[in-house]
Parts: sequence; structure tokens; C-alpha cells
Amino acid sequence: MKIDYYEILKITKSATKQEIKKAYRKKALKYHPDKNPGDKKAEEKFKQAAEAYEVLSDDNKRARYDQYGHAAFEGPQGGGGFGGMNMEDIFSQFGDIFGGGGGFGGFGGGFGGGRARQVRVKGSNLRIRLKLTLEDILNGVEKKVKVKRLIKAKGATYKTCSTCNGQGQVMRVTNTILGRMQTQSTCPTCRGTGKSIDHRPKGSDANGMIQEHEMVSIDIPAGVTDGVQLKVSGKGNDAPGNGIPGDLLVVIQEEPHDKLKREGVNLHYDLYLSVPEAILGTSKTIDTLKGKVKISMEAGTQSGKILRLRGKGLPSLERYGSGDLLVHVNVWTPKKLSKSQKKFFEEALEDENFKPIPDKTEKSFFEKVKDMFS
Ligand SMILES: [Zn+2]
Repeated sequence: MKIDYYEILKITKSATKQEIKKAYRKKALKYHPDKNPGDKKAEEKFKQAAEAYEVLSDDNKRARYDQYGHAAFEGPQGGGGFGGMNMEDIFSQFGDIFGGGGGFGGFGGGFGGGRARQVRVKGSNLRIRLKLTLEDILNGVEKKVKVKRLIKAKGATYKTCSTCNGQGQVMRVTNTILGRMQTQSTCPTCRGTGKSIDHRPKGSDANGMIQEHEMVSIDIPAGVTDGVQLKVSGKGNDAPGNGIPGDLLVVIQEEPHDKLKREGVNLHYDLYLSVPEAILGTSKTIDTLKGKVKISMEAGTQSGKILRLRGKGLPSLERYGSGDLLVHVNVWTPKKLSKSQKKFFEEALEDENFKPIPDKTEKSFFEKVKDMFS
């Protein structure tokens, strides 16, 4: 036998919407599960009040109820009717009633059953450093790394946390000048998992977890830079109970290359020519990341000349295309000379042909630098 909805809220048949709301608010506060932990009767009354409010606050439903009573919501017409309101539905009503925010916003401890929102606790993240060569970075690479992860020990079982009844959250009531305030916080016993260890296998920690090595494969995209952090979802530590695993964070560490210097997507290469090579002209083979490239230098090549090998740099993570390889020409000056060599250059000192006469088209070092960055 169901109790009359007006009776439940202690209102008359002619109650206004405002009065209904007020009456429900009173009942909800009185029978709220957080105020009556473990009290099944209060919980029942709390649900009844919510059901009564659900019907009476809706003009359409109220009219049907006034005409047919509880029968209005039973049978095929009513689609199963009420009585099936779960706590989640009830709490979602509260936005209206209590004006959202603060107060009874959410889900407290102290009441079992229902399919209250479970907080899925995430395991902690793991962080590793991964060394990559420029060759790895050029095309992207798949790396396998051994990671020490916390996982659930075999045979570990969990039970519902008794502090929060599996909610993972507890309500704390504090008295303030504005009245009683309830705040929701993570359960201190289970740290939000809603579970506590039941059987703890030998060798496992307080949460029934053990450390195990696992090979994790990491896909590195082309063009990553030093310090970039990649995330491998779910390869961090597992969470105890029914939580979800944390992530594996991979911090890229670029290993220096013995010949190439990286600057964003561009690479720099220092090429050394001997004095006669610079004077007579020569050809050199350069080992780029994309294979060998032969470059020829004309007779009278100036030190400081920069040759740009288009597309021989690195791909960019964000953009299409590739950077360039910049070859910096350096003329190597010998420190020791034979007698005859010394004599030759002493004579050359007086020779007009050896006097520097920078061509108008010959850019100075500073102009070249400006060029490169513009
Ligand atoms: Zn708990």
C-alpha cells in the first residue's frame, strides 16, 4: 500500500508549487542519508519524499495523480511507474531545489545500495626519460622499454570500504555562521577507490599491489624535440580495487650528434677545407641524415660561406615539410709550416693577389647570420 504523496510531504491538495518545493526541501534535509547514516527508515522516507516531489512538481503528472491516484503511474500506461527512483536521480533533482553548488550537491557517505556515482581512481603516472638519436627523430621510431609498474598481485581481493561504503567520498559537516555546511572529500581510508584490501597476498604492499617489469612499446613520431613529453595511456601504475591505471609519461632526451647540430627543424654542419682546397676548389661528400650528398666548392671559396641543402633537415611535428641542412664552410689554417712554405707565404704578404678585397656580393658573417634568421 502506497502512502499518499500529499501525506508524505505534509501538504494540502491545494498546495502551490512553491509550497510543494518548500515541503520537499524540508523532508529532504531531514532524511538526507548523510544525516542519517545507516538508517534504512530514513533512507526510505528520503526516497518517498523525492518520488512525491517528482510527481507533484510536474503539472501534468500531478493532474493524473489527482484523478487516478497511484494507479496513474502503474501498468502499461505508466511504464513501470515510480518507486524505481535511484539515488542518482534524486540527487540530480537537487540542482533545482537547493540552487546547485554547495550544500547537498553530491553523494555522501553513509548510505549503501543504489548505483551512486563511483569515483574511478586513477593509478599514479610513471615517468621515464628516453634517449633518441637524430636518426630516430628523422623518421620516427618504435622503442621498447622495460617499465617497472605497480600491478594488482595475483589473488588480491578487495571488499567495499566500510568508511565510505564504497562511495570513495565522504561528507564532512561543519558549522559556519551561514549554518551547517557539507563538503565532499576523498575518503581517507580507501583514498577514493571505494575498496579496501580483503586478502593481501604475500609480498604485496598495503593495497595488494606488487611491482612488475613490463615491456612497453612506444611509438615516437618523427620530428620530436628534446624535452617533449609523450603519453602512453594506461601504462602507469595500476590502481587498487576497480580503479584505472595511470599513464606512462615519456620525456624525450635528444642525444647529441657528433657532426650535426640541431636548431629546430634545421641542422648545421661544419665543413673544414684546407687552404689549398679553398684556393683551388674541391668537392666534398657530406653525410646527411638522408644519405650522402656530394657538394662541389669552386676555386676561391671563402671561409664562412654557408651552403643550404634544402629538405635535408628534420621534419616538423606541427608542419608539413622538412627543414634544411646548412653547411658552414671553414678554412683550416695550418699552425706549422715548413721552411719553404713559410718563405712562400712571406712573399705572398707583399703580393696584391693575397690582399682581402671583399666582393660587393660577398656577404659578411654578420649579414649571413641576419639572413639565416629572417
Ligand atoms: Zn572509503
